[in-house]
Amino acid sequence: MVVYCLLTEAAAVTLTLRPFPIAVDRRTVLILLVLLLLGVAQSEAGRRVERIRRRVSGSPHINMTSVWTFAGVLVLPPPLLAVLVGGLYGHLAIRSWYRLQRVPASRTVSNAAIILLSCYAAQAVMRVSGSPDVRSAFPRGWAGTFAIAAAGVTFFVVNALLVLPARREIGRTPEALFGTWSDNGLEVATLCLGALNAVALAVLPGLVVLVLPPLLLLHRTVLVKQLEVAAHRDAKTGLYNTSGWHSLAERTLAAAARQRSTFGLLMLDLDHFKQVNDTYGHLAGDAVLRAVAEAIIAAVRGRGDAVGRFGGEEFVVLLPGIAHPDIGAVAERIRRAVAALKVPAGTLSITGLSTSIGMAVYPTAGTSLQRLLDAADTALYHAKATGRNKVVHVADLG
Ligand code: GH3
Ligand code: MG
Ligand code: MG
Repeated sequence: MVVYCLLTEAAAVTLTLRPFPIAVDRRTVLILLVLLLLGVAQSEAGRRVERIRRRVSGSPHINMTSVWTFAGVLVLPPPLLAVLVGGLYGHLAIRSWYRLQRVPASRTVSNAAIILLSCYAAQAVMRVSGSPDVRSAFPRGWAGTFAIAAAGVTFFVVNALLVLPARREIGRTPEALFGTWSDNGLEVATLCLGALNAVALAVLPGLVVLVLPPLLLLHRTVLVKQLEVAAHRDAKTGLYNTSGWHSLAERTLAAAARQRSTFGLLMLDLDHFKQVNDTYGHLAGDAVLRAVAEAIIAAVRGRGDAVGRFGGEEFVVLLPGIAHPDIGAVAERIRRAVAALKVPAGTLSITGLSTSIGMAVYPTAGTSLQRLLDAADTALYHAKATGRNKVVHVADLG
């Protein structure tokens, strides 16, 4: 990882210092200053939103600097582009990231290097297509338009690929590697505004301030979306929390009633979990909860299956379209996956976990969510009372 960062940084520096066909005149320097100023103004105006955003989602995600950096791609030569990226990232690092999340300086430098490389790749596409900057694209009509579009796509793709090695450390799911749909949508929207920005700078530079209001509003909208997601998630495991799971389950129930189909519900409770806490400590207990969450997700993974944590060490699973006896196979798969878990705790490894599972199927066990949950809970209670580490279907209780 360190080698990769150093390599990208070295590449960014080398490419910054190579000769370039656009001359640095007073006008381009002025444009650089305008972009820097607006970028700083935007991040100052959006600081509160950004702070909440980072607190809510925690993970690194799209920042909105491409509005300025992609505009820079279309109007600035490499050395000035490097000053723009360095200035914007330096400002963000000092004012927003460091204080909030203690993001180390090395991370900011490597992020800035990756953005700069994406910028240069986009500029290379512009040059190859015959319009090195936005003004030379104007007289070329559609060819110029496509050149700018191709530069935007290049920026997006190269950036997504260059951050991959860093993201592999965070996780290997498609979402961890490539971001959510809404992350990517935000990046595309930001790039679109960046292209319009560059056109405004080339024609009537004063108009560039018009981008600020939509940008700040976009930022706010993203925050609302993130809050919505966070409100439905359990912070410890990333699963649905009680309210998130409930609203999803109510929708599944309504759909099943409409289509006269069926769905299953599992309720799980870890066996003797208090002993895990008492033996290995609460933090190890939390690690077990996360491992169990992952095991359950890996064991279901059907379309619309939803796993929730009902607080403590109790989990619920919603299985649309499933009935007896298939539901028993899914529950058994989960039970075995939990029993096979090895959770590292310091130098030790926690094994021998087990879980009791209660099952209920709509509509035989009930036609309201509460009834179904009660039925699954009754089955779970029975599993606990008759020896634990087993799966019980409420229909088998008579
Ligand atoms: P049983 O087999 O009867 O379910 O035994 P149990 O010990 O699992 O049952 P009980 O419900 O009495 O204990 C649940 C324990 O889960 C108590 C509490 O300390 C622990 N717990 C609840 N929430 C958390 C959490 O977020 N993290 C950790 N580490 N422990 C938790
Ligand atoms: Mg328990
Ligand atoms: Mg419990």
